[in-house]
Amino acid sequence: MSEIGNIPVTTGNDKKRSNPLANVFDELIRFCQARSMFMLHYCTGCGAIELPPAMTSRFDMERLGIQPMVTPRQADILLVTGYVSVKTLKRVILTYEQMQSPKYVIGICSCTVNGGMYWQSYATAKILNEYMPVDVYIAGCMPRPEAVISGLRRLMGNIENGKANGWKDYYQRYDYYLGNQQHLFGDDWQTPTDIIGEANFYDLKGDETCGEHTKILEQHQVPLEPLPMQIKF
Ligand code: SF4
Repeated sequence: MSEIGNIPVTTGNDKKRSNPLANVFDELIRFCQARSMFMLHYCTGCGAIELPPAMTSRFDMERLGIQPMVTPRQADILLVTGYVSVKTLKRVILTYEQMQSPKYVIGICSCTVNGGMYWQSYATAKILNEYMPVDVYIAGCMPRPEAVISGLRRLMGNIENGKANGWKDYYQRYDYYLGNQQHLFGDDWQTPTDIIGEANFYDLKGDETCGEHTKILEQHQVPLEPLPMQIKF
């Protein structure tokens, strides 16, 4: 457990804490988190066409406290709205890793569940859960806005009950996710985010955080150089 002064803060592990006030505090935080979520406005496949009706006046996800956000740094939910090509998946993973924890992923459309009608395609990633942790799937080709709202409500309930723990799984089993990413993108795949450092920070580094795939990453990793500043007179 980490503490700031005498104030207990939420930590990565799910253990009930001895101080009952701290547990009440955790529940209050989860209640607030579930009711004020920003959704990253990043559309992938054709299922994205059902999002505008879910967001606007007819179905209106804003009444649930969910609003679109244009930057991953300030977003809590990543909606993957349909199939992801191999090229797009790289951007989706980069985006996911830039989001602050706790963060949640919703896979919309059958294409995110098992490849959908593109299951034979050479260009798409089939099972999203193999590359990043998915908290809720909403199946359909494409799902109706009612189903999207229902999925969002399911996620809210899971957050409140402390069951939406995909982001923790990414830190705890990073070697598994990285291995699948390397399988698709090649061994020289790297992102600028230090996931192992973050796992340490959240007290979530487990036996499966590092392994054979993180070793490959270390071998290939090229430190990012700051861009040279050029001032022309
Ligand atoms: S499930 Fe259907 S609507 Fe959704 S991305 Fe796949 S093909 Fe498009």
